[in-house]
Amino acid sequence: MPSPLQLKFVESATDHNELPEAGAEIAVVGRSNVGKSSLINALANHKHLAKVSKTPGRTQLINLFVLPKGAGVVDLPGYGYAAVPGKIRAGWGKMIESYLLERETLVEVLVLVDGEVGPTKLDVQMLDYLRANDVPFAVVATKHDKVKSSKRDTRKRDLAIGCGVAQKDVMWVSADSGVGIDALRSHIRGVLAE
Ligand code: GDP
Repeated sequence: MPSPLQLKFVESATDHNELPEAGAEIAVVGRSNVGKSSLINALANHKHLAKVSKTPGRTQLINLFVLPKGAGVVDLPGYGYAAVPGKIRAGWGKMIESYLLERETLVEVLVLVDGEVGPTKLDVQMLDYLRANDVPFAVVATKHDKVKSSKRDTRKRDLAIGCGVAQKDVMWVSADSGVGIDALRSHIRGVLAE
């Protein structure tokens, strides 16, 4: 069974150029409230790891974690916060974009989509952006436990269609029940060669 990812918080930055170059790097994105912090904590089996990126002032930063052999996991700011004023929001988009397009060590972006809600307009925009710029990505649906078992097949199919990917390529996880967490750990280790 895959053991928890031994993630260690390194630092937060507004500009990826300020961050040390880790080895290969995987980034995690999603709209706020999608379950990103809960998922990072579940992957590491560490209740408060991603709390650091939730503290006020850090939610809009690029947060870098490293694994024991030096590969990186990057927690990108959640998109779609209604409370963010226009100016900050624009700067924040630029920050994410320059990270996604310029970070040389980035090997894959995990796009988190709420499994209970399905893909939102912003999720689809993010996926289109990654496709248009040839940035490799994988779709991870969250909150598996929140959907009735009788509805899961249909939900997964609809979510895959909405995201424009094959059903078999959607990893559906739950930070609460633990479903899919081991599989996602293996996926991340494989992509990062850790
Ligand atoms: P973030 O804003 O993307 O970092 O989202 P959080 O990790 O803070 O989660 C947002 C809300 O969804 C919180 O109330 C979590 O408890 C809840 N949540 C996150 N993951 C799960 C899950 O797998 N199952 C259930 N039932 N709730 C979840």
